Amino acid sequence: SNGVAHPPSSTTASLDAPANGAKHSSKVDWTPSSWRTKTVAQDVHYDDKEKLNEVLDKIGKLPGLVGVGEIEKLRQQLAECAEGKRFLLQGGDCAERFDDCEESHIQNQLKVLLQMSLVIIWGARMPLVRIARMAGQYAKPRSSPIETVPPNHPYNPTAVPLTIPSFRGDNINGPTPTLTSRVPDPSRLLQAYFHSAATMNHIRTVLGEGFADLHRLEGWDLGMEYVVEEGLRADYRRVVTALTDALDFMGTVGADDLTRQSSLSTVEMYISHEGLSLEYEERLTRPATSRFRELNGDPRKRSPAPGSAATQQPGTFYNLGSHFIWLGDRTRQVDGAHVEYFRGIRNPIGIKAGPSMKPKELTSLLEVVDPDRETGRVVLITRFGAGKVEGALEPLVEAVRDGGWKVVWCCDPMHGNTHTTPSGIKTRSYPAIVSELTSTFEVHRKIGSRLTGVHFECTGDSVTECLGGSMDLQVAQLEERYETACDPRLNYEQSLDVAFVIAKHFER
Ligand code: PEP
Ligand code: MN
Repeated sequence: SNGVAHPPSSTTASLDAPANGAKHSSKVDWTPSSWRTKTVAQDVHYDDKEKLNEVLDKIGKLPGLVGVGEIEKLRQQLAECAEGKRFLLQGGDCAERFDDCEESHIQNQLKVLLQMSLVIIWGARMPLVRIARMAGQYAKPRSSPIETVPPNHPYNPTAVPLTIPSFRGDNINGPTPTLTSRVPDPSRLLQAYFHSAATMNHIRTVLGEGFADLHRLEGWDLGMEYVVEEGLRADYRRVVTALTDALDFMGTVGADDLTRQSSLSTVEMYISHEGLSLEYEERLTRPATSRFRELNGDPRKRSPAPGSAATQQPGTFYNLGSHFIWLGDRTRQVDGAHVEYFRGIRNPIGIKAGPSMKPKELTSLLEVVDPDRETGRVVLITRFGAGKVEGALEPLVEAVRDGGWKVVWCCDPMHGNTHTTPSGIKTRSYPAIVSELTSTFEVHRKIGSRLTGVHFECTGDSVTECLGGSMDLQVAQLEERYETACDPRLNYEQSLDVAFVIAKHFER
């Protein structure tokens, strides 16, 4: 393939489809609950169905956490990513915890994402879109439904191993390794809503108060003292100095006043989570028309303006629990419940693609969730593992291109690079992460495609969960501050490291 645009192939939705009703005809048999007729991978069994329904009815009445206008804006920005005009940074905790819903953690997450984006923007000379794994990233798919608590453990004082159900995320069961805490509790779904709402509210509050104002960069401690190697530290400092100089210069020439009112002093942060708990997602899925009425007052007094969102998209549904949700590598079966749910919402969506994803499988999936080939509707998040990119990526890129889809290619260099240390600690090595990231950039470039997105599990806290990086974190240090409830995250320093790697990639 040569990078030339191909027309959509074997689909009824084509270039001349009208921008209204008929375009969505493929969705006539979809409802927010039509997934219930399909097989649900990673399903959760609740004993108390009455309680579950009570909780879900309540969630169904609660207001959305995000706005239709915000979702539409994200769609627009992801379309720009798909066209190579914008770069996507998605990141945050593997599993958010209800206990982490505090100002310091939320602000540290925002800070690291903003600092990473600053470095990437500087390197890529491209605007950026930030999507946080925040305000709802509670549900976790698990490779195994059970886990073992070893003998003579604080939670298993017996002499034999204890088998218990796995932790499924704070919205399902408790992390404490006991049989009782691992029983799915429906009220956790409601708690997830309120913790998401509190997190979203704090994000809006601090960003609204100028937390991200670039002119306060000096307060962002980019001193780089943690960088062990002198050459690398000098390298980083060069970038930070160049950045600071550019901002100073704008202040000097009087661009300052202008920038304070524009994108330099305000910042957008979209929220995202894995769309795993379909009961929850269903109840936060709302038709655009009722949302439009909420926004525009009594429809009897005021009719929608021609060309407004509501008149253009009859029967359109938005998931108002998040701007963006993604389909996990374990729940992307073409005929499964998750794909059925995802195909019906207007939010942009992510699809994780691990080493088992075959080109044919991917195109069948895209045919279902993006039959109209909408630029940037789908973010394809590849996570093969270092050393596997070369063989796996090219066929997928070719298949997507030949099928006429315009996706955002995004690299998650975390999930294919997890290993367990001899003493049983789940970790990831910084060199493997950088290796996957670098090969992904290179393979795309080689075949005339473009990587315009990255996806990390990272935290603004100085945890010790991944090995290596400019601070050269050692195996022996892992236990010092290992706090993740699920997968190991890049800490604050390692997160900046990967941002510099990306910036350097564009410098070449
Ligand atoms: C995740 O993003 O935390 C995750 C479980 O990813 P994947 O579905 O790619 O394994
Ligand atoms: Mn994870």
